[in-house]
Amino acid sequence: MNGIMLQAFEWELPSGAGHWRKLRKMARKLSRDGVTAIWLPPAYKGAGGKNDVGYGVYDLYDLGEFDQKGSVETKYGSKEEYIKMVAALNRAGIQTLGDVVFNHRMGGDEKETVTVHRVDPADRRMVSEETEEGELYTRFTFPGRKGRYSDFVWDHSCFTGVDYNERDREHSLFLIDGKSWAQDVDAENGNFDYLMGNDVDVSDPRVAGELTKWGEWYLKTSGLRGFRLDAVKHISAAFLKNWLAALREKTGREIYAVGEYWHSDAEVLVDYLERTGNAMNLFDVPLHFHFHRISHGNGMYDMRTLFDGTLVSTRAMQAVTFVDNHDTQPGQSLESWVDGWFKAAAYALILLRKDGYPCVFWGDLYGIPSRGIGKVTELETLMRLRRECAYGDQCDYFDHENIVGFTRQGIKSRPGSGLAVLLSDGAGGEKRMCVGKHFAGRVFRCCVGGQKDVRVDREGYAVFAVSGGGVSVYAPKASLVTSALRRLSGRRL
Ligand code: CA
Ligand code: CA
Repeated sequence: MNGIMLQAFEWELPSGAGHWRKLRKMARKLSRDGVTAIWLPPAYKGAGGKNDVGYGVYDLYDLGEFDQKGSVETKYGSKEEYIKMVAALNRAGIQTLGDVVFNHRMGGDEKETVTVHRVDPADRRMVSEETEEGELYTRFTFPGRKGRYSDFVWDHSCFTGVDYNERDREHSLFLIDGKSWAQDVDAENGNFDYLMGNDVDVSDPRVAGELTKWGEWYLKTSGLRGFRLDAVKHISAAFLKNWLAALREKTGREIYAVGEYWHSDAEVLVDYLERTGNAMNLFDVPLHFHFHRISHGNGMYDMRTLFDGTLVSTRAMQAVTFVDNHDTQPGQSLESWVDGWFKAAAYALILLRKDGYPCVFWGDLYGIPSRGIGKVTELETLMRLRRECAYGDQCDYFDHENIVGFTRQGIKSRPGSGLAVLLSDGAGGEKRMCVGKHFAGRVFRCCVGGQKDVRVDREGYAVFAVSGGGVSVYAPKASLVTSALRRLSGRRL
């Protein structure tokens, strides 16, 4: 079975629109559409209350249950709705993944007077020896929750640094006296432990213990089956390795995990996987950047290099491939949106090839109405082709700077499987590709790209065509007829 992960949100979803309820109702449809895992947005209360997308974490134990930050519900709904939705998705056979944001906390309840050191934001290893007094919002008592589930009170001793001093209303980078940045983090800016808000000190055993306790509580309360780990390059690699190991041991379950390590160099990602003892998978950020460059490259990109330096080409089993996400969408912090003309081709590349675990973005599947961005119209068809046809040996034709393609030869246990894909970042054209001798004489129908059907020759080859800046996907004709009939009649043929 070819799995598909769905990132089930985009940044600009309207708040208070019942997203959890909506996903619960969609569970069976998503399963029918081939979704096998779902990455759900952060479910706990953020500093921005019901307008917080979820990454401005305030209280990990408030899943839309307590009147905090201006509302009981989160942006997506209530705790009860969340739990019902997870159960419905689990019942539909979809692996539910919760978004875990450990790097920082925001929206502290009380100010503390704390001794701090100034840090050079461009090189965080440069810490001033001088100290000064800061007024920091580092005390979290969660007055709305009143100690329910955990009576842990966070204060400045739980954090390494902040970027705001209330005393002078100054935005700058400060290290809390007696603390140091974690060393096993990304090396950008000298040390990239600090990202935003109050940076959580996971080296503190009380903090680590509390986060493990929360992890157990969260799995048990929610019914989730795995995690998407946010901003892992800003968090001690050893901590996350130990945290996952502890939860896997305590629950006796495998607990799938995929981490977001935002870096364009696959070597950095592989090094991180090694350092965590391969405790997780990672999103293939380098591949996303290839897609981004192609889509803005006016045909100048050399398509032969499409998979060079990607995670999927070095660690296929650990690569979660994606086209765009909530951070890369227009207006967001890591904006690097893959331009519309190349979207379908990019999805063909992640959905129809042998390697990689593809993650489909909500904003591509259903559009981003707030930005007037429509859905990728070919995406549902490509998902269906992944489910029904993307099996068997793969033959690559990455042999031209503009037009590249690949074929899948199908497998016997999947009647009608096999396909051919051709894409171009320049002019249109043709390519002779082999789909396998077992298809000799068969017709391949163009399901995406609007080309004419082709007949496979005696040697198992056919000449496939693609339009300028387009993508074509061909599949054995009978398989589509069969599946269309099956959908119409609602029974197996
Ligand atoms: Ca950090
Ligand atoms: Ca080119």
